[in-house]
Amino acid sequence: MDFTQEIEKRKTFAIISHPDAGKTTLTEKLLLFGGAIRSAGTVKGKKSGKFATSDWMKVEQERGISVTSSVMQFDFDGYKINILDTPGHEDFSEDTYRTLMAVDSAVMVIDAAKGIEPQTLKLFKVCKMRGIPIFTFINKLDRVGKEPFELLEEIESTLDIETYPMTWPVGMGPSFFGIINRKDRSINPYREDDKIQLDEDYAPVGGHAIEADEAFQTAIEEFMLVEEAGDDFDDEKIARGDLTPVFFGSALSTFGIEEFLDTYVDYAPMPTPRQTKEESLVSPKNEDFSGFIFKIQANMDPRHRDRLAFMRVVSGKFTRGMEAKLARTGRKVKVARATMFMADDTETVNEAYPGDIIGLYDTGTFQIGDTLYAGQKVDFEDLPQFTPELFMKVSAKNVMKQKHFYKGIEQLVQEGAIQYYKTMHTNQPILGAVGQLQFEVFEHRMKNEYNTDVIMEPIGKKIARWVENEEDITDAMHSSRSNLVLDRYDNQVFLFENEFAMRWFSDKFPEIRLYSLM
Ligand code: GDP
Repeated sequence: MDFTQEIEKRKTFAIISHPDAGKTTLTEKLLLFGGAIRSAGTVKGKKSGKFATSDWMKVEQERGISVTSSVMQFDFDGYKINILDTPGHEDFSEDTYRTLMAVDSAVMVIDAAKGIEPQTLKLFKVCKMRGIPIFTFINKLDRVGKEPFELLEEIESTLDIETYPMTWPVGMGPSFFGIINRKDRSINPYREDDKIQLDEDYAPVGGHAIEADEAFQTAIEEFMLVEEAGDDFDDEKIARGDLTPVFFGSALSTFGIEEFLDTYVDYAPMPTPRQTKEESLVSPKNEDFSGFIFKIQANMDPRHRDRLAFMRVVSGKFTRGMEAKLARTGRKVKVARATMFMADDTETVNEAYPGDIIGLYDTGTFQIGDTLYAGQKVDFEDLPQFTPELFMKVSAKNVMKQKHFYKGIEQLVQEGAIQYYKTMHTNQPILGAVGQLQFEVFEHRMKNEYNTDVIMEPIGKKIARWVENEEDITDAMHSSRSNLVLDRYDNQVFLFENEFAMRWFSDKFPEIRLYSLM
């Protein structure tokens, strides 16, 4: 296969969802469906391997694959698909957001009973700002949930995106009969094997007992309405992230997944170009290798300082042992220890193509946002900074350790582990984060890597807003409910107590133009 074909068959996405919606289950099923090839990250004593689609069920039963990797690759229909994990729960952090910078599309998993939940919304907004295509999988149809129209309406109004149902459920929970596939107007029954074809009048060809069923009648009426009055299919809107194809199913029962994958590979983009600091685009088909680091996973075990830097290949072909340069320093770096892991065995990567993610063993060379390139110099634009929501005052327990303390903070901030702020006049350090875990990692690493115990004092949840016209800020605008601090670049930032305080402020000082980061 030639270089261009290798690129064209790659699809790289992340699943965005709220904890418990079924991300892990769906990921497992996708891997089983496609035949997992290799993964990078922390593979925790699991065994899997390559297997044909036909025997995925057996493999599933025998091995009980668990998904703990950060990046997984699987084959489907001639495509090589990379799934990137977006840590949620208590692991939610800026890394979760940054992972979305390394994908070309996203799959949004929604629990049919719960609809759009807070974490889904946050991740969705980041995808939307990047304008990447979003595919929606509405999960847990084997249980009673919200009505399909209610769910679509919720997606459209909460997320401001058009929907295009690719499948439509017949019943749900105990009455769940299956899904109608809009592509060929057939029903895939949940409990039976054979597909049921619908004729022009939406009746089962050759007749079927389901015809008399109330759930079926309702579903057909709804489906006709969708076909007649729903949004039009528009692949350009999908590509821009303005319309999301919607699928219904049950990840746990591996139901609705093939319909999803079939459409996903048709409409998800191949690896997309990336922008440089000079605002030129680097095409994946550019033969010179380039890539950027979007995540650094520190080893939490104090005996092992090694870290794993995750790199997205943007252009060219990565080969093991190749010589590459780090754009930030201009120095050559060794990429001999680049790795991906086979699902059942650690394996050194011999080659990787645009869209692929590889793990580079790192002893402190890389920072988040770093570019690696071979050939002509490339330096990709910085990864966005995200608006933190949680804040902590921090100080060194031992005042004699100030030097270590500031060195530690500086490095951890540069690495992207945490954000740094300080009080206006007293310059007391404040840390900002999007998830609680970031503070815990900070505290742990300060102790283990910089030998510094820290005192952390929660300030709590705040709404941070930057100011376009800083020169117009006056003393009258500071208060405990609109606290003014400085970010690491000395920009002024208001930390508002809550939405109410922010609205009150904007009403009182309409001349101040507030904005948030991504
Ligand atoms: P995650 O937190 O999003 O990764 O969610 P998991 O995949 O761990 O799923 C959360 C819970 O929902 C688990 O108990 C799953 O077994 C269950 N679950 C996932 N998919 C389905 C489904 O299609 N139907 C039902 N009934 N339960 C599901």
